Amino acid sequence: MSETRLKIRIIGDKVLRRTAKQVKDVLPEHREILSNMAKLMYESSGIGLAAPQVGISESMIVVDAGTGLYKLINPKIVKRQGSQAIEEGCLSVPGVSIKVKRSKKILISALDENAQPLCIEADDLLSCVFQHEIDHLKGKLIVDYASFLDKFKIKKKLKKLEKGKDGGLRQPKEKPGELQL
Ligand code: ZN
Repeated sequence: MSETRLKIRIIGDKVLRRTAKQVKDVLPEHREILSNMAKLMYESSGIGLAAPQVGISESMIVVDAGTGLYKLINPKIVKRQGSQAIEEGCLSVPGVSIKVKRSKKILISALDENAQPLCIEADDLLSCVFQHEIDHLKGKLIVDYASFLDKFKIKKKLKKLEKGKDGGLRQPKEKPGELQL
């Protein structure tokens, strides 16, 4: 199998706004994509990555928020509890961070890379990362949560990113500690 080099898609790319397809049969290709996604996530110092962010409109995510690597297929939130708001960044919206209000605790059902069903309970940061990645599968981005003031602050930056004039890719100037999802 050829080693496919994945590339992170930047806001303005239509694939980021598409709803990802459910994976019907988990094939070796899916396992390969998931492991390449994990590699790219670590290389980019991210803690989560969804398939649409690498141009693949299929329901797959990888997450490692410091408690181990999850590779999930068709993840779905089946239960929510409480709320929290964390400042989030996104590898597809470099240089922008938005405080997003999300559920504090969630229960997820998904398939693992061997098509085995599993349930994951997550809270705090891990819960936030899962919700961010599952948003990507619905074509939703952090900018959709922007307040009026946020919108004003990020307007120029977004225009540049959407026109591909911002060098697009990684931003070395990222504030340390900012969550890249
Ligand atoms: Zn993201």
